[in-house]
Amino acid sequence: MSASTAAPRRSWFAYLSAALGLASLLGVLCFHFPELLTSRDFRAAYTEEFARRLLLIGLIAAFVLGTVAVLRNTNKRVALTGVVSAGLAVLLGGATIQFDAIESTPFSLGLDWFVISLFFSALVFIPIEKAMAVRQMSPLRAEWRTDLAYFFMSHIFVQFILIAVTASTATVAAFAAWPSLQASIQSLPVWVQFLLAVFCADLAQALLHRAYHNIPWLWRFHAVHHSSRNMDWLAGSRVHAVEIILTRSSVLLPLVVLGFSSAAVNAYVILVGLQAVLAHANLRLNFGWLEYLLVTPRYHHWHHARDAAYVDVNYAIHLPLIDMLMGTFKRPPPAQWPAEYGVMKLETVPTGFWPQAWMPFRSKKTFEQFVGQDDTR
Ligand SMILES: [Zn+2]
Ligand SMILES: [Zn+2]
Repeated sequence: MSASTAAPRRSWFAYLSAALGLASLLGVLCFHFPELLTSRDFRAAYTEEFARRLLLIGLIAAFVLGTVAVLRNTNKRVALTGVVSAGLAVLLGGATIQFDAIESTPFSLGLDWFVISLFFSALVFIPIEKAMAVRQMSPLRAEWRTDLAYFFMSHIFVQFILIAVTASTATVAAFAAWPSLQASIQSLPVWVQFLLAVFCADLAQALLHRAYHNIPWLWRFHAVHHSSRNMDWLAGSRVHAVEIILTRSSVLLPLVVLGFSSAAVNAYVILVGLQAVLAHANLRLNFGWLEYLLVTPRYHHWHHARDAAYVDVNYAIHLPLIDMLMGTFKRPPPAQWPAEYGVMKLETVPTGFWPQAWMPFRSKKTFEQFVGQDDTR
């Protein structure tokens, strides 16, 4: 890698300050309008004290890092964004602010879920991706804004997604109630239920995933996910809203119909959240024989490869066994990583969040106008 290219060097201090300053501002807004901006389910997972401490750390770090960047005269505008947003957050009450009383509202946004999830994902993945990268690249690589927009949308509308998924699943499940089977599954130990749940959910996911690849109108939605040209922890967020709801419903359906205990389902939800991010991460991990047992980053990276031999194989997200059973297993070449990622016909998927959101609904003729300008590497 040539270190001295024409592009000016980015200051870590400035960008971190901007991210933390803006996050603190959003955090203070969550304290002011909890009933509107925070999701009831996620709020139950953390304490007010925890949110307040996190906010204080964010504010101090944004001020310190931003000031250092301004003094060093690097990325001053970005650094000032951090300092000014942190200042605004302090003016709005800062870390000593009281939670406003929460009235019950039918709908709320998951702004707290977005801020806290982004903070911890970045905290964990940015350093380990730097240490174990398949390809050395900045977290602010091409199209990071697009992927952040997807991350934002899937978190902020968490409640709406949950409502849509629960409603569609419950409607179908009502036709398939099977009390005796449910009772026998609930009598199993939780860890057995968990393993069974992973198997059933992954089978449902992989069957739908294969349909996405083989049915043209479904592919248009899934092509958005495959349009990422850079793979990292954030790239996995790029999923069309229609795909999010369809996939989550079809994965939840067997779990509801079969009546797994909530402990087993919750453990599954944690696993899928973790493995979905890990599978896309820019992590050079070679697991040897374990790659036959569990889906690893390499397994899923090859599913995203711009390589005709691997485009329609390896649909599982947890267990390669599912692909073996479906006849769609193709072991990636040992210890190798794909040379390039993305859809085979780059011109079919536009760049940017909104063009990608509309793309599946438009006629094919308009696709040419969106030929990715960002992908000229
Ligand atoms: Zn796919
Ligand atoms: Zn993927």
